[in-house]
Amino acid sequence: MRLALQYCPYCGEQDLRPREDPQGAWECADCRSTFVVTPVAQEARR
Ligand SMILES: [Zn+2]
Repeated sequence: MRLALQYCPYCGEQDLRPREDPQGAWECADCRSTFVVTPVAQEARR
């Protein structure tokens, strides 16, 4: 499962590209930062 990111956490750009390695990584086309998104369990809704 891959999460969809909308904004780069470093520069705020929206031009993000998924990378195959490491798994779940995204690369920002603007600042060239690569980061991994870790899913966090959400609270159960009532
Ligand atoms: Zn960026």
